Formats: sequence, C-alpha cells, structure tokens
Amino acid sequence: MARYTDSVCRLCRREGEKLFLKASRCETPKCAIDKRAYAPGQHGQGRTKFSEYGVQLREKQKVRRIYGILEKQFRKYFKIADRKKGVTGENLLQLLEMRFDNVIFRMGLAGSRNAARQLVRHRFFTVNGKKVNVPSYIVKKGDVIAPVQSKAEKFPIKTALENLKGKTLPSWLTFDVDKKEGVVQSLASREDVTLPIQEQLIVELYSR
Ligand code: SF4
Repeated sequence: MARYTDSVCRLCRREGEKLFLKASRCETPKCAIDKRAYAPGQHGQGRTKFSEYGVQLREKQKVRRIYGILEKQFRKYFKIADRKKGVTGENLLQLLEMRFDNVIFRMGLAGSRNAARQLVRHRFFTVNGKKVNVPSYIVKKGDVIAPVQSKAEKFPIKTALENLKGKTLPSWLTFDVDKKEGVVQSLASREDVTLPIQEQLIVELYSR
C-alpha cells in the first residue's frame, strides 16, 4: 500500500501551520514550524499569495495530510460524502473522523494518527472482540474498541493507558481504563472536529 514516507514536518511547513503529525514533538521548541515558518524548498520563502484555486487546493491538501490519506482514497471519501444525505463537507469530515486509525488516536491510545495507523496494522486492537488491522475501517456507533490482551500490558499501550487516566476525550468517545475498552458513543459531528478546517473549500475544489 502506497504511503507518504518523507519528513512529515515538511507537510506542516508547506501548509504554513501546525498539523500535529508528530505526537509530543509538536508541542516542543523542536517543532519545525516554530523554527522555520516558511514553505520547504528553494522557493519556500518566495510568493505566498494564492489564487482562489490555490486556496482551495491547499485546504484539501491540508486535510488530506492531517488524516494521512492519499489523493485517490480522499477522492473516494468525497464521492461517498457527496452521495450521502446532508452537507457534503460535514459528511466528509465525519467519514474521516470515523476511520479506525483516527478513532485510536482520538481515544488517546496513540500519540498521532501515524502512530495509530502503525499500531492498527500490527493488530494491536479489536473491534467488538475481533482483531482489525485495517486503518481505513469505518467504525460505527456502539462499536467496542479494546487493545489485544497480550499487548495491553506492554509498551506503548501500557503507557497510553496510564496517560489516559483523567484525560478528556471527544464527546462521541469514551474509554474505561480499568476495563481497557472504549466505546463509540455516537457518530462524530462537525463540532467534534476542532481543527481549523474550511471543508467548503474542498467541496468547491472538487465541484469545479
Ligand atoms: Fe508539524 Fe509536529 Fe513537525 Fe511541528 S513537530 S512541524 S506540528 S509535525
């Protein structure tokens, strides 16, 4: 499966804002955006004014990079969102939020979406008692998510569970540290996506 393997900090610098792709490092002075707040490459410090198309494109790229999705799959999500009832942009964000790797990250079981994706691929978690190793699996309301028993006592899950005590989760997710299981209480709504995303720009881009 194709995936982005270059430096993720370059992606933040390209978008000109923190996308929080590197767990704890993002909050430290080592963050590349704090050190070099301009686009990477030879012309990174050059022209910064975008056309209307450029603004829409950058917004789409930003969202794709936050969730770690390649263009082809992102477009597929857009088509599904467009076919669903309701507001297309909101449907799109909901689909992205309900991805299994994102849910693991949002439950606090991994420090970043990238880390969550790797843990999912390595069969660290079950959904309703069955091992699921597909990061793009879309979870549903009522799904019960738990770390595989043999891995719950080991790093990095053990550390994540310790850090989870007293942590506030998004309103649509709960996690019982003693039982070592979380529940998807509802579908994610637009208000649950706290990142600065203008989804309408993506809809306009794909509607050209
Ligand atoms: Fe982005 Fe985090 Fe790298 Fe900063 S440290 S540039 S927020 S991935």
